[in-house]
Amino acid sequence: MNRLGEQGYRLTPQRMMVLDAIENSDHHISAEEIFSQVVAKYPHFNISTVYRTLELLHRLGLVTQTDLGGGRVRYHPADKGYHHHLVCQECGKVIDLDESVLENLKTVIRRDYKFDPDIRHLAFFGRCKECRG
Ligand SMILES: [Zn+2]
Ligand SMILES: [Zn+2]
Repeated sequence: MNRLGEQGYRLTPQRMMVLDAIENSDHHISAEEIFSQVVAKYPHFNISTVYRTLELLHRLGLVTQTDLGGGRVRYHPADKGYHHHLVCQECGKVIDLDESVLENLKTVIRRDYKFDPDIRHLAFFGRCKECRG
């Protein structure tokens, strides 16, 4: 929580509120959901402040974000571990994918491409068991 301050960024009440909203949500939260929580306490808050703050928190590595399709970008605290999602493009269902599934992929990318991938929060799109019929 104090990492913002350590990195020379002022911990403004707005930034605290946005970070709090992300840390207190059980899983993922959208910018719009953060906004509606914060604006309940700070009526003068506007959504572009939320977007700017999220960009900053993301740049500092305090939150991760992933696009779950259809403009559904979701945030969650970086310190809650890495994980991934399978997103059904037909019914919109989101299934959590264990991080270990991608270990092989990371190994191959590091070994064969000499590239260290930043794979923290990914979404794979496709069709779920029900929608496949
Ligand atoms: Zn996620
Ligand atoms: Zn489905």
